[in-house]
Amino acid sequence: MKPELFDLGGKIAIVTGGNGGIGLGMARGLADAGAKLAIVGRNADKSEQAVAEIAARGAKAISVVADVTDGNAVAKMVERVGSEFGRIDILINNAGINIRKPPHALELDEWQRVIDTNLTSAFACSKAVHPAMKEAGGGKIINIGSMMSIFGASFAPAYAASKGGIVQFTRSCACAWAADKIQVNAILPGWIDTDLTKRARAEIGGLHERVLARTPVARWGAIDDFAGIAVFLASSASDFVTGTAIPVDGGYSITG
Ligand code: NDP
Repeated sequence: MKPELFDLGGKIAIVTGGNGGIGLGMARGLADAGAKLAIVGRNADKSEQAVAEIAARGAKAISVVADVTDGNAVAKMVERVGSEFGRIDILINNAGINIRKPPHALELDEWQRVIDTNLTSAFACSKAVHPAMKEAGGGKIINIGSMMSIFGASFAPAYAASKGGIVQFTRSCACAWAADKIQVNAILPGWIDTDLTKRARAEIGGLHERVLARTPVARWGAIDDFAGIAVFLASSASDFVTGTAIPVDGGYSITG
């Protein structure tokens, strides 16, 4: 195997929600493989901390403060990355939220907020980077789904709808942009220890024990478990892989 298959030297990557959690785990992996990064989030302080952490690993990163539910902010974010680095090779659509309520208790504006953040933002960011990737002769888009791309949950109607949608959106973009040499894939994380799931553990009694009991590797995922898959899907090692949805879940999705 040629080591350059996984080399991201000279590549420019945007990671939405890259200032913490799974996004930061993937950003670390891309940085270690040689990519330069734009960390996108709403919280400027958190993003600056992530940029400093990546700089300490010896990689270049910038913070772009943007709300990915705002189409104008997305356009400005992509413009800024283009003018700072001159090209865009990799986009990771990772920003996400959940509002845990059963469908009968979820308000329309809450539904909309989850769909806008988790699904519509992936469309807006992907469409916005497409011209730059096409001009560069190719690119990689990685969308973050969930176990709820596969399963339902009583407390996650909008979240599961958004994450199911991410998989179909991934397949559609993979078909549409194959001729532009842009590969589009999804990652489906299992239960990962982040701020998002700390809240879930607090809100859903017995969740921690259920996750451990069902996950064959018998632990929660860590954010650094996402470095390898991010580098694979962002590098030329995956040039013939497109439209897939890859579980990174310690085996959660293969057990009943
Ligand atoms: P975190 O809450 O730790 O991180 C979420 C990230 O998204 C933050 O960086 C946040 O930054 C950013 N974000 C949220 N809303 C917006 C917005 N409107 N505009 C820009 N950035 C935004 O969550 P995780 O790391 O756990 O989740 C990351 C992704 O992984 C999500 O898509 C989630 O659904 C998915 N996932 C997580 C699982 C888990 O077990 N943790 C399981 C399956 C999927 P800021 O606040 O600065 O805007």
